[in-house]
Amino acid sequence: MAKRTVDLSVKHFSRYGEFLASFELSKHGWDNYTPVYDEYVDLLVHKMVCKKCGKKWNSNPRLICNRCKREITSTNKNKIIANGECVDCKHFFLKKNTKNCPKCDSVKLKNIPTCPLCKKGMIEIEEINCECGSKEHIEKFRTIQVKASRLEKDGRSYAVDLRPKDLTQGHFHAYLWVCIDKDEKPHFIVIPVKAFEKESKNFINSTSFLKDEGREHFNSTTFGKWIKYKDRFDLLE
Ligand SMILES: [Zn+2]
Ligand SMILES: [Zn+2]
Ligand SMILES: [Zn+2]
Repeated sequence: MAKRTVDLSVKHFSRYGEFLASFELSKHGWDNYTPVYDEYVDLLVHKMVCKKCGKKWNSNPRLICNRCKREITSTNKNKIIANGECVDCKHFFLKKNTKNCPKCDSVKLKNIPTCPLCKKGMIEIEEINCECGSKEHIEKFRTIQVKASRLEKDGRSYAVDLRPKDLTQGHFHAYLWVCIDKDEKPHFIVIPVKAFEKESKNFINSTSFLKDEGREHFNSTTFGKWIKYKDRFDLLE
């Protein structure tokens, strides 16, 4: 018989939610890291974007021949020719691990990694520019608290547990609520903690919340007031 998420233990369901959150975050260009110890944060996410247009930054530069302009791919990388040139007498030769110039014995040798395709050009690491022309990028880090919810007993609502400690995690902390519907499909609600504070003043002042027993319930079809945070991964930017 097919197993469903309701068959998972509470602990495993919580991990399941974190995995789904990770996959979804990576679709939005975030690299995911997990804490070494069970610290408060569930996921640390990181991305590099263009400073000017915000597009994901290419962090994997290509190797290009400066003469034939062809790319040296991983399959022909090992064919790059280890040539060298003597700084003193300008002698050009197959250097490999040679330490002295075979002509004048000088030790001042320059590496000339040579193109295996045209055998003339030098291989260089391509300078990374964004498509928009910008040469500058910025890095972003966010801390994420994942809360996973299955349908509650009535089948019409979800619930997440919230504690005062959730609110004290800094300006780049966000909730990612993962709600699994009756068809096992996940729905993602992304709420920066500062937005949550604004949204839930009354809830935050409730005795149960202060006693670490705060539980936020919301309709599983309409998502209540949280609907405006559904799939809002852009709020992490
Ligand atoms: Zn750009
Ligand atoms: Zn070449
Ligand atoms: Zn020489």
